[in-house]
This record gives sequence, structure tokens and C-alpha cells, in this order.
Amino acid sequence: MSLPALSLSFSISSPAHFSSSNFKKFNSLKPPNATPSQISLDSTPPNLNPSPSQPSHNTGVIVVGAGLAGLAAATRLQAENIPFLLLEASDAVGGRVRTDSVDGFTLDRGFQIFITAYPEARKLLDYDALDLRRFYSGARVFYGGRFHTVADPLRHFSDSLQSLTNPIGSVIDKLLIAVTRIRVLSQSDFQILTADEVKTIELLRSIGFSESILDRFFRPFFGGIFFDRELETTSRLFDFVFKCLALGENTLPKNGIAAIPEQLAAKLNPSSVLLNSRVVSIDHESEEGAVVKLKSGELLRSDLGVILAIEEFEAVKILKGKTLAGDGVKLPVRSTICLYFTVDNDKVPVKDPVLFLNGSGRGIVNNMFFATNVAPSYAPAGKALVSVSLIGLHEGVSDEELVEGVVKELSGWFGEAAVGLWKYLRMYRIEFAQPNQCPPTNLMKEARVKAGLYVCGDYVSSATFDGALVSGRRAAEALLEDRAAVKSSMFSVSI
Ligand SMILES: Cc1cc2nc3c(=O)[nH]c(=O)nc-3n(C[C@H](O)[C@H](O)[C@H](O)COP(=O)(O)OP(=O)(O)OC[C@H]3O[C@@H](n4cnc5c(N)ncnc54)[C@H](O)[C@@H]3O)c2cc1C
Repeated sequence: MSLPALSLSFSISSPAHFSSSNFKKFNSLKPPNATPSQISLDSTPPNLNPSPSQPSHNTGVIVVGAGLAGLAAATRLQAENIPFLLLEASDAVGGRVRTDSVDGFTLDRGFQIFITAYPEARKLLDYDALDLRRFYSGARVFYGGRFHTVADPLRHFSDSLQSLTNPIGSVIDKLLIAVTRIRVLSQSDFQILTADEVKTIELLRSIGFSESILDRFFRPFFGGIFFDRELETTSRLFDFVFKCLALGENTLPKNGIAAIPEQLAAKLNPSSVLLNSRVVSIDHESEEGAVVKLKSGELLRSDLGVILAIEEFEAVKILKGKTLAGDGVKLPVRSTICLYFTVDNDKVPVKDPVLFLNGSGRGIVNNMFFATNVAPSYAPAGKALVSVSLIGLHEGVSDEELVEGVVKELSGWFGEAAVGLWKYLRMYRIEFAQPNQCPPTNLMKEARVKAGLYVCGDYVSSATFDGALVSGRRAAEALLEDRAAVKSSMFSVSI
């Protein structure tokens, strides 16, 4: 889908700006053997010209936003030796993929799972270095006052045989899961992401799944992935995630989910990444390239183009109200709350690295797991970490009420004696977890707003780690394509 023309004009840099002297100027700022820890924590980029109305710094490409999309864009540019500055508003890279270290506990900002089969992630990440810890392939569903296992037959055959007759779904439902697996595996990712779409719930009903399995398994499981228990999210996203789940493992990096963006950032030239640097506007009128204004008032000029790797609503603000995808920011965005508790490790009621789902249709908990059963490094020695996820923001409900409600509800799952020992650690209320990707969607949006201005982020592709990574690479490649065209026209003029 092409993006609407923006009223802001963006002039392609004149051939003179695509010169090796500009590259040299920027490259000379790079320390030859800089280490990742040198990523600047200073909000002030190199100040080459103190005049407030003049850009203080020229660079090739400016990438705004150091979430997965921005990191992927920067990675692609660096691979082509294109100088860039990656500007991040917050105090670390990662965007929505962040982890806090609190008193020896590893607290991901919201429950996130890394699926090893994400195709773009496989190309970009060193899985061994991430030391990925696996979940059980399946889930344990709380329904009718007790737990029922749903297991992947290819990985836990005997568990799956035993689960054939449990009340989570009929035998036919379980066969339909196998049929769905074959269907998605027979399609390419491109086919899946561009296929005719309906809401996920409509797709599942059309396949023939019973209301029992929809309520007891699909709503808590995929509703937990999409933060959408109604399952109104596009069937394209369902098929894509279902395929990745069939091909890969659900994992957590040993050092927390933020190890993923941190690994990407560690490979970038440290002096090209500026944290605490919020962009407030971009001027595309200049003949000499785009001028990016930071909150500090500092101006930075980009000779080759700007890649906006920020959330869609932020991009709309910076581009002065223009919507990027044609249809505007879709509401409601997807929200979640994650609560963490701890307890002595020997008091954990279950030792399996399994995800627990609320299939009861009652209560506020959607899913939970004992994080230390998956990755013991998530807590100090002798302690366990419990992670509980709710869908939505639960506005108007205080933190205390939520903690109380969760403890009461999970006491019904694991017993009052066990849950009574849990100590509350922290809560994350995440208003914007994912963009709303209900139909109609375009999961292959054009990165190019116009030559010299590009967008990426999970809203441009699929609302997943992988979608963000793909979109970042595509934005960089669109820029490289445009620049190659400028370069070849320079070449033909000089002949
Ligand atoms: C709780 C939670 C659970 C999730 N679970 C999963 C999961 O299990 N599996 C999965 O695949 N995906 C999951 N996701 C989704 C996934 O995290 C996102 O799709 C992906 O990280 C989006 O990356 P992004 O680069 O597009 O955007 P972001 O991560 O939002 O990055 C945008 C960056 O731009 C910066 N920025 C914004 N405005 C400016 C500005 N003006 N100037 C400078 N910088 C700016 C922001 O600070 C941010 O760092 C989850 C998300 C959340 C929050």
C-alpha cells in the first residue's frame, strides 16, 4: 500500500551531498576500537557548530528510535558502510523490549516470549550467545477447578495423547490443530502476510473449532499474544505466529528479553548511538538535506535521509499530524499489565517451565508462569520469580487492588497456603504494548514516505519482534535503493 503524500516537502540531497568527503567527516568521529559500553549516555551529540539556528552535526542517515526496528535499520546501514546516527529518546536501546534488574531479579517490562523460528531474527541474532531457555511446548490450562495439559504432539507425544480427551477441546478440535499446522506450514511467509484476511475468531470458527477450545485455549493463549481476548486481530498475524510456533521454540534469553536489542546494539558503532536524544521535529524543506531538531534544541542535518523507527503515533506527531499508513492509528491500541512476585524456590508449587493459561472465562489473570522454572537466572539464588499477565489496562483499579485480586485468584489455582507466601515485587502497566492489527491490515506497508524519508516499526509490518526487525531492514534498503539511483544519475551526468 502506498503512503499518502505528505505536505512537507523533502528534497533529495543534491549529488554534492552524496560525496565521500561527507562520509569521511562523519567517519572521523568513530573511535577505532570502541566497545559497546561506550554507547553514549549523553544527550548532547558532538557539537560542531554552536549556533542554535544551524545544524551542529552532519551525518549520512539519521535513524530515529532504537527499538528493534531502528536497530535493524542501523544494522543494515552499517553493513553497507553508510554512516548513521541512531537517536533514542530514552536511556537505553530496546524500545518496548526492555528488562530491569531489581535486587537480583530480572524483570522484563511485560511478559514477552521470543520464538526461535522468527525468520528475520534467525538471520540477525546469535542465539547461542543469547543462551535461550525453552518453555514447555504447550500450556497448562486452568479450567473447572484444575489444570489440563495442552501439548505439542511433535515434541511431547505422550502428553498430547493423554490430553486428547481432556475438556479443553474435543478430539476433533485437537485434530483441527494438526490440520491448521499443515496449512500454515505449506504457505510462505509472504503468502501468509498478504493472504485474504478475517478476524482470527472468524478464521478459527470457519475451520470448525468448537466454542470450548476457543474459550479455554485460543482466547487465553493467542489473546495473550495479541493482548486481545476477543481475537479480533487479523488472521494473517494468527497464521504467521502459528507457523513460527510450529517451527520453533518459545524461549527467554538467560539475561532477560532486553538481551535481544542489546545484542544488536553491541554490534553497532558506539559513537553512532545517542541515548536521551528525543527528536521533536524534522524539517524537510532544506535544500541541503533534512534537519532534525532534538528536544534540547540541537539541530542535526542528514545528508542521505531520515528513517523514523518510532511508534506510529509518535511519527504522526513529528510529521505534523500526517498519518502514515493511510488509515491512521487504529484504536484501541493493545495494553497489558504484568505483575511480579517472589517466593523461596523450594516453595514453588510446580517445577515445569510451562505457561499457565486461564481457561475458566472468569477473573482478571490471563496467563502466568514461574519465570525461574524457565530461566533460573531471573532471580537470585534460592528465590523464584512469578510473572502474571493481565490483558488491558484495568483503568480505575489501583495497584493494591490488582495485587489483591491476583493473589486471591491464583490462590484458587495453587492453594492459599502456597500463594500466601508470595511477596509482591513490582507491576508494569503498559498502555502501548502493540498496535491494533484488526482487519483491514497491510502487514507489508511501504517504508518510503518519499525519497529521503522512511518509516519502520511493528505497525509497518507484523506486531512482533520479527515484524519490527523486517521493517527496519526494509526501510534501510528503500533508502539504499533511492541513494543508488541518485548516485547512478550523478555518474551519468559526469560522463
Ligand atoms: C509487554 C509486551 C509483550 C510483548 N510480547 C511480544 C512477544 O511475546 N513476541 C513478540 O514477537 N512481540 C511481542 N511484543 C511486541 C514487540 O515488543 C514489538 O512489536 C516490537 O518490540 C516493536 O519494536 P519497534 O522498534 O517497532 O518499536 P518500539 O520498541 O516501540 O521502539 C520505538 C523506539 O522509538 C523511541 N522513540 C519514540 N519517539 C521518539 C522520538 N521522538 N525521538 C527519539 N526516539 C523516539 C522509543 O523510545 C522507542 O525506543 C510485546 C510488546 C510488549 C510491550
